[in-house]
Amino acid sequence: MSKLRNEKNGNRSFFSLKAKWSIGTGIGVLVIFAVFSVMLFQSFSSLLMNQEKQYAEDSLRTAIGKLADNEGELTKQDVVKSLSLKITPSDNQNLYTNSVYTSLTRENIGISVYNLSGDLVFASRNVPVKFSSGSYQESRLAKDKNGRSIYVLSHSVYSKTTHQTIGYVQVTNSLISYDRTRQRLVIIFLVFGLTAAFALALLAYGLSSWLLRPVDDIHDVIGKITQGDESEALANVRVPEYNYKDELVELGEMFNGMLDRMERYVEQQQQFVEDVSHELRTPVAIIQGHLEMLNRWGKDDPKVLDNSIKASLQEINRMKSLVQEMLDLSRAEQVEIQFANEVTDVKEVGMLVYSNFKMIHPEFTFVMDCDLKEATKVQIYRNHLEQILIILMDNAVKYSTNRPEVHMSLAKTSRYAQIVVQDFGEGISQENASKIFDRFYRVDKARSRDKGGNGLGLAIAHRLIEGYHGKMTVESVLGQGSVFRISLPLIREEEKVIEESERSL
Ligand code: ADP
Repeated sequence: MSKLRNEKNGNRSFFSLKAKWSIGTGIGVLVIFAVFSVMLFQSFSSLLMNQEKQYAEDSLRTAIGKLADNEGELTKQDVVKSLSLKITPSDNQNLYTNSVYTSLTRENIGISVYNLSGDLVFASRNVPVKFSSGSYQESRLAKDKNGRSIYVLSHSVYSKTTHQTIGYVQVTNSLISYDRTRQRLVIIFLVFGLTAAFALALLAYGLSSWLLRPVDDIHDVIGKITQGDESEALANVRVPEYNYKDELVELGEMFNGMLDRMERYVEQQQQFVEDVSHELRTPVAIIQGHLEMLNRWGKDDPKVLDNSIKASLQEINRMKSLVQEMLDLSRAEQVEIQFANEVTDVKEVGMLVYSNFKMIHPEFTFVMDCDLKEATKVQIYRNHLEQILIILMDNAVKYSTNRPEVHMSLAKTSRYAQIVVQDFGEGISQENASKIFDRFYRVDKARSRDKGGNGLGLAIAHRLIEGYHGKMTVESVLGQGSVFRISLPLIREEEKVIEESERSL
């Protein structure tokens, strides 16, 4: 498939719809996920930070509460006593076993106590940040020597009894677990985001490949038709059918329908060319035969000469009428566009054709049954309606047998004008009745030819009626006669009124 695409587009490379779809989906998911992740990350971080601050504040509050019992400036002994710390000889600063303090000092939290001059008198752990504040209280974010973030909280200690400042306490909360949790979060979000984007891009690719199958099939079909033998491909290649329905499947079905119609047109075209050459072959062969005969010996015999010239002229006339009828047929295909505004009175044309036939064929009985009291307008070019009625009346006369009688009737319903031509002649079998509107179709070729018929009359009439959005049908019983019915849509009332008012001006 992609090979075909590349071949046909030469060196032009492009992203397939599926690739665009999947990349788009992947990027979309990534962006949405990133936005949510950042928001989640921010709120989670601030939650964690608040928690860390809370730990530090709790520790500070407890330490200050205990140290405030002293009266003078804080010394190491005061602090140890206040916090109930037990100092072992080996470690004079860091070891402590006090239950209160143990519960206070979490792994990350360090508490250091300073006297009024800012000198360290006690530290629970190594002090990661130098005490710098002599102010009443301070909270800040600092970095230790390894570059790790540390939350620093310091506060003065007031004696409960003297209400004087007796020292300072500094609580440091090294944010290792906070940083570690944040790093983990970043990794989780990244892994999840990328996996989700990749998985959804894959899913989108699979889904689009599945959904776009009809488009691929249409693409293949067009490729096959344009590459190979067009008419053969047109007959054999179709978009496969699917057992589900959606817009693209429907598109494939419509495309198949279009190919079917194209195939029919091409066939009709080929058939037409075949029919025409076949029809022309007989008169040409007859004329050729006569001319050869004259060329060999006939020109000296006035009788033969006369016969041959008459026969040749007759065939030339047939060819002339054949060419004219073919032209009429081809023009009949375009009436919708060319004669869209023509309006004709059915009654007037019907009566005219009827009286003409009455005059030309005095041996026939013509009966007119006209239900139309006033002019009945239909949208058709006048000469076309006349031509159609002449074809039907002419056939009725031609194919009448021992009852030389033709009936014409004119009527209308609420929407249609109806014209019926009935004869009592040889009739048409059921099988043939469905074919007589085809080009060049004649029930009895030889007899029809004798009567001057080319088998195009009904095809022309039928095509014209269809072109004017009408209908033409036949009912016939072999040996008893035929009834041809035409119905043409009436011009709408308001249009009639407009037309009449224009005429009265
Ligand atoms: P043609 O020029 O041969 O009459 P048409 O297209 O007018 O061609 O008619 C096609 C065929 O239909 C005729 O050859 C004839 O066999 C049959 N046909 C047409 N009209 C009638 C009719 N009124 N009665 C019997 N057969 C008819």
